[in-house]
Amino acid sequence: MFEEDCLFCKIVRGEIPAKKVFETKDVIAFNDIYPQAVEHYLFIHREHTKNANSMVAQKPEHLTAIFKAIREFTQQTYLETSGFRVVTNIGANAGQTVFHTHFHVLGGEKLGTFGSNSTKSSIH
Ligand code: AMP
Ligand code: ZN
Repeated sequence: MFEEDCLFCKIVRGEIPAKKVFETKDVIAFNDIYPQAVEHYLFIHREHTKNANSMVAQKPEHLTAIFKAIREFTQQTYLETSGFRVVTNIGANAGQTVFHTHFHVLGGEKLGTFGSNSTKSSIH
């Protein structure tokens, strides 16, 4: 299934260009257009779900496919050796802007402390 107006479904269909770095029959990975690190990729399943919680509920096998792709890609590159971060935003407080489930893979440099409220010592 896809959504007509979804930006990442358009990338899957080739209607919007993206610099692909990795793909399988189920998953594609491409450069984030506004990179937050020297290397910043987005991993998505070709089939639309709106966020990671929906994916877990509706298509849990997609999660496995994506993390297998991340593993394969980071092993093929130096990222697994040097280290990388995987992030997924869900909803407004996290700042999700594209509602097609995606996992940010960030690396290529020493990454900053995670999160804008990282000075808070308590975890709720
Ligand atoms: P999020 O804020 O977690 O929903 O992430 C959406 C990400 O998509 C942001 O990091 C954007 O920079 C990125 N983005 C938006 N449009 C494009 C595009 N056309 N190609 C690649 N990345 C995009
Ligand atoms: Zn979509």
